[in-house]
Amino acid sequence: MKKILLILIVLTCLTGCSKNVEVKTIIKQDNSYVSINYPVTNETNLDREIKKHVDNTYNSFKNTYTNYQTPEFNISYDYNLLNDEFISIHLNTFKNNGINNSNSVTTFNYNIKNHDFLNIDDIVNSQKLKYEVKKEIKKNYKMCTKTCLKNLKINSYFLDEDYITVFFKSKDLNIKDTKIISIKIKNEDLGLTLKKKDKTKKIEIKKSKVTYNDKVVALTFDDGPSKYTDKILKILEKKGARATFFVVGNKVELYNETLLKMVSNGNEIGNHSFDHKLLTRLTDEEFKQDIKKTQEIIFETTGFIPKLIRPTYGGYNDKLMSNVDLKLTLWDVDASDWKYKSERRIVNNVIKNVSNGDIILMHDIFSRTVNSAEKIIDILQKEGYSFVTVSELNKIKEKRNL
Ligand code: ZN
Repeated sequence: MKKILLILIVLTCLTGCSKNVEVKTIIKQDNSYVSINYPVTNETNLDREIKKHVDNTYNSFKNTYTNYQTPEFNISYDYNLLNDEFISIHLNTFKNNGINNSNSVTTFNYNIKNHDFLNIDDIVNSQKLKYEVKKEIKKNYKMCTKTCLKNLKINSYFLDEDYITVFFKSKDLNIKDTKIISIKIKNEDLGLTLKKKDKTKKIEIKKSKVTYNDKVVALTFDDGPSKYTDKILKILEKKGARATFFVVGNKVELYNETLLKMVSNGNEIGNHSFDHKLLTRLTDEEFKQDIKKTQEIIFETTGFIPKLIRPTYGGYNDKLMSNVDLKLTLWDVDASDWKYKSERRIVNNVIKNVSNGDIILMHDIFSRTVNSAEKIIDILQKEGYSFVTVSELNKIKEKRNL
């Protein structure tokens, strides 16, 4: 009987475990700006193919770039779980060799029930999809004439509750550009029905008590959330401390519970862009869209509207920042948790350099950051510091200056 029970548990896990999706994050700033975010689904076949793709793309970038002007490599993703049955993932690779941009899209569509990749004909009539796609292209991309239309192949598509999005390179449609063209076809036009997700969440926000005369410090965490963020939240709650999390927009949906916890415990959420690209290389319009998209997903997920922005890689200029109504937030003390592997070094580095009113920079994507943050809180609380959010700190500073 016990054996049967065990088998049942394993089987349940095979279909249900894919919900425990994590995001793998690699962020580096050395001779190049590197930001890689992709989902790890616990579906072996799918994870293997995604990792293979990411490794290949990154390795070929590393082998070709020159250090003439700092190049950039960025992989971001879209992830959807539909009907608890299909996983649809869209990886967007952005490269800048210091001068030019290039974009590419790779999609992975997977059936959790049979643990295999999805064939488009399993869900819709591919001929009908092709017909609808061509109709859209004829209407909106006139430069794609007869031969171009005839040669079109549907290689990349992404599913969500309302649309199938099909991706093409600009050159496939006879457009001289490096952008990716996406054509959206309504699911209902293809006879496909997918359950809608319930996105409305209600949370109760704890009122925060701030003592204005205390020694205060603001802990901030960039590049998350990740599997370590919940642990940090627990520590903050236990110690009666609050922090500010500068989250990356494309991770918000998969970590929605974590974000809700952040807000309900009185922490603050700041905007760290949607895809973690170097912002100074974006046009004003691209920058505005990126920040807006991040604001929207945080608001839709938590009901919290971020008021702060922290630019990726610390890169910004005043002209760019004048496009958004968010308070630019840098830091006073860099814990260097991205550089030091030893918790002792991270902790000492902060304790040695911190003073009243400082903002401390950490990253909630490393396991060493969890324990380091706990020790930093312990030591500084003993020295009489309170841990407040950045907005609280700003208010305190304003009041002090009165
Ligand atoms: Zn960052």
